[in-house]
Amino acid sequence: MKYFGAHVSATGGVENAPLNAHAIGATAFALFTKNQRQWHATPLSDATIAAFRRNCEAGGYAPSQILPHDSYLINLGHPTDEGLQKSREAFTEEMARCEALGLDRLNFHPGSYLKVIPIEECLRRVAESINLALDATHGVTAVIENTAGQGSNVGFAFEHLAYIIDRVEDKSRVGICIDTCHTFAAGYDLTTEHACDETFAALDRIVEFSYLKGMHLNDAMKPQGSHVDRHTSLGAGTLGMTVFRYIAQDRRFDNMPLILETPDESRWSEEIALLRQLAEEQ
Ligand SMILES: [Zn+2]
Ligand SMILES: [Zn+2]
Repeated sequence: MKYFGAHVSATGGVENAPLNAHAIGATAFALFTKNQRQWHATPLSDATIAAFRRNCEAGGYAPSQILPHDSYLINLGHPTDEGLQKSREAFTEEMARCEALGLDRLNFHPGSYLKVIPIEECLRRVAESINLALDATHGVTAVIENTAGQGSNVGFAFEHLAYIIDRVEDKSRVGICIDTCHTFAAGYDLTTEHACDETFAALDRIVEFSYLKGMHLNDAMKPQGSHVDRHTSLGAGTLGMTVFRYIAQDRRFDNMPLILETPDESRWSEEIALLRQLAEEQ
C-alpha cells in the first residue's frame, strides 16, 4: 500500500493531527508532538494520549503511517558539551513522547558541526546521541533525515547516514527518511527516471533500502547541488513531477509514510489526490 499525507498542524493538541490529516484525504501524516520552537513541553496527559489514539484509530492511521518530527532546536552532533547535553535530553524526551503516544518512529535532522568540529566528529556524536536515546526508551525507531547541507548541517551525503547507522548499537531501531528536495539540493539528480534509478541505487548501495522508514515529498525551489533547503509544491519547482511519479509507482516506497512538507497547505488535498492517481496508473 502507498500512504500519502502531509505534515499537519497539531495546534490545540496532538489529538487534532489525525483529524487534520483525515480532512485532506491523507492516509499518512507527520506532526510535531510539542512546540517545535521551544525546548520544553508540558507532559502529555492521559486524556490527550487516549484522544490521539482514538482519533488515529478512527482515521485508519497505524503507527507505520505516522512520522513525527522532532524540534528544530535539537542538534545531536553539537560541538559543545552543554549544547550536546541539552539536545540529548530534549531528544530523549521526544522519543518518550512518541512511545507514550504508541508511535514507532521519530524523524529528525542529524545535526550541525557549526564549523567548530570536523564533520566526522559531529557524525560520531550524533550516533552516540542515538544510542543514549535508544537505551532510555522502548519501541521507537530513530529516523535520520538526509539534509540539503545548508549552512553546517551534516547528513547531506548518503555516506553520512551510513556512518551514523554503523555506529548505532541497536540496528533494529535506527532508520532513514529521504527528502526529495534535500536530496536534489545536496547534489543528487532526481529529474529523470534514469537519474532516479541511479540515485536510489546509490542509496541502496551505501545505506540499504531496509532502513527506509519514510519519505518527504517536496519539490525544490533551487537547482541541483544548491545546498539551499527551500521546498515548493509538487511540479512547481526545479524537480518537476518525474520523481514523484517514480516514488508513487515503485514498490520500495510501499507501507511507509510519504509526507508532503510543501509550503502551500491549500494544495495538500489536491497533491495527495494526484499522488494517489499516479500510484494507481502503474
Ligand atoms: Zn523534510
Ligand atoms: Zn527541508
